[in-house]
Amino acid sequence: MLKRTHNCGQLRLDDAAKKVTLAGWVHSYRDHGNLVFIDLRDREGLTQLVFDPETQPQTHGLARTARCEWVIAAKGVVQPRGEGMENPKLPTGQIEVAVQQLEILNISKTPPFKIADSGQRIADSKSLNAKRCTLNADVNEELRLASRYIDLRRPQMQNKLHTRHRVTMVVRDYFDQLGFWEIETPMLAKSTPEGARDFLVPSRLHTSCFYALPQSPQLFKQILMVSGVDKYFQIVRCFRDEDPRADRQAEFTQIDVEMSFVDSNDVIGVNENLVARIFKRILDVDVAVPIRRISYKEAMADYGTDRPDLRFDMKLKDISDIAKQSSFKVFTSVIENGGIVKGLCVPDGEKYSRSDIEKTLTNFVADYGAKGLAWSKVKTENDKLLLLGGCAKFFSPEAQHQIIELFEAKDGDLLLFVADKEAAANKALAPLRCKLARDLKLYDQQHFEFVWVVDFPLFEWSEDQKRYDSLHHPFTSPIEDDMDKLETDPANICSQAYDIVVNGSEIGGGSIRIHDPKVQQKVFDLLNISRDQAQQRFGFFLKALDYGAPPHGGIAFGLDRLVMLLTGTENIRDVIAFPKTQSGSCLLTNAPSEVAERQLKELKIKIDTTKK
Ligand code: ASP
Repeated sequence: MLKRTHNCGQLRLDDAAKKVTLAGWVHSYRDHGNLVFIDLRDREGLTQLVFDPETQPQTHGLARTARCEWVIAAKGVVQPRGEGMENPKLPTGQIEVAVQQLEILNISKTPPFKIADSGQRIADSKSLNAKRCTLNADVNEELRLASRYIDLRRPQMQNKLHTRHRVTMVVRDYFDQLGFWEIETPMLAKSTPEGARDFLVPSRLHTSCFYALPQSPQLFKQILMVSGVDKYFQIVRCFRDEDPRADRQAEFTQIDVEMSFVDSNDVIGVNENLVARIFKRILDVDVAVPIRRISYKEAMADYGTDRPDLRFDMKLKDISDIAKQSSFKVFTSVIENGGIVKGLCVPDGEKYSRSDIEKTLTNFVADYGAKGLAWSKVKTENDKLLLLGGCAKFFSPEAQHQIIELFEAKDGDLLLFVADKEAAANKALAPLRCKLARDLKLYDQQHFEFVWVVDFPLFEWSEDQKRYDSLHHPFTSPIEDDMDKLETDPANICSQAYDIVVNGSEIGGGSIRIHDPKVQQKVFDLLNISRDQAQQRFGFFLKALDYGAPPHGGIAFGLDRLVMLLTGTENIRDVIAFPKTQSGSCLLTNAPSEVAERQLKELKIKIDTTKK
């Protein structure tokens, strides 16, 4: 076999007259009668090969048989392309290789779809635009997933794989420099539900017993702190058997971190510097550290969500105090029943017609459970701003003035309101705010706006289950000052949790943990986990806490989501080499699949075929 000397993205004019050997796939093929041209592709780029019948009749004859995606090796001499034949779009566009010897290494069936676009390597470019190339929308995704080996040959996909690799290298290098150890934790673990459903693996050696695939290494990393490891990280696969959602995979990757003898500022500091380093190295984007922080309360009040997109303002405002004086029955009755009236001001929103508002926008919020959307426009009359149209007529001039002041509204703005229970109003207004900003192009798509959300409540009350639920997970510590409230006022305990959010998407979250077994037991009690259940599920962990657990805390980032942001894709499957479909199937291998009777017998499992 010819041994390659260079890759397909490497040769330049300076290399002219060099004898080289390249190997790769036939990207495209042009037979000009006398000359044959092949664009040879590997993951680094494209190089033009030229075959001349005059000088190399045999090689030329062989080249004429080659077809797209055949694998070949070619030996020849680098030469400048003829006058006017250069391709400025390709880094190798000034040269070609005049081939003297050709070897067909393998043939290929005609691929189910084309490896579109130029084979130009873009991963090393510092330009954000170059990163944000999108896939050809015309190729059906199921086809791509079923022939993933072809799909992954596309430069766009190789760019994503490469970016992901580079991110993990930055992470490993960063933590290594700071003295963190990467330690693997088990994949076959104990079922300790953290909110989601476990994937279970039957044990052959222990009949009726199951391992669970880890939802995260939470308890193992905490036990590593009890073991004196001090600083741990791991790039780790996690599994959650949740119902299908477009932006989720049941199998995903976390950058998992835990540290001893730290407070939340320490964890935040180390990890925001990591984020800054990743964005600098991958996109050449400067992230200003320290990243700003806002409290959960402020996030919910101003943006209606704990994942606020801060690329634009458009804060939500509660107008309940003004609305309760109005003559608008819808508003007053909601307030009387313990609800609120909350809204936002759309700059220059007058361009939304009445039907845009009453159909499109109202339908939009209805999808999020809102029963209606009240509106009014802001206009100048006799040099004074007032409300016009929609619900304006229910408000006195004085009240209109107060609303305009509250929103700092200007002539031409549109005010939109939802009246409901606070949580329900937020649930509708938060996505509405983002939709409007997107429609009105209120922000630069390529800008990244980071924020830490802090001061979360430890618990939220679950009306369904009539008990408290952890807002993060049961191992999150209350702040020191609120420890007493575990006995007296659980609803108002502030936790030591923090989430990092960028452009409205949560990329990581963590907390300072409980290291006192008594506090941990108290939290289980409040979560209605009986002593027996706690022993059964977390006994091993509670026992470890009894043997000198240091104060500790950590965080986990979603690697897939991070790479999605860095590569500008909204499709999580594009950043995973072998992803599953929304319904959890792998179209390449056809997993999950039935197994042989013999395997089931060994596991002593009987499938109830009547329930199929
Ligand atoms: N284990 C948590 C999670 O997976 C993160 C953490 O608290 O470190 O969300």
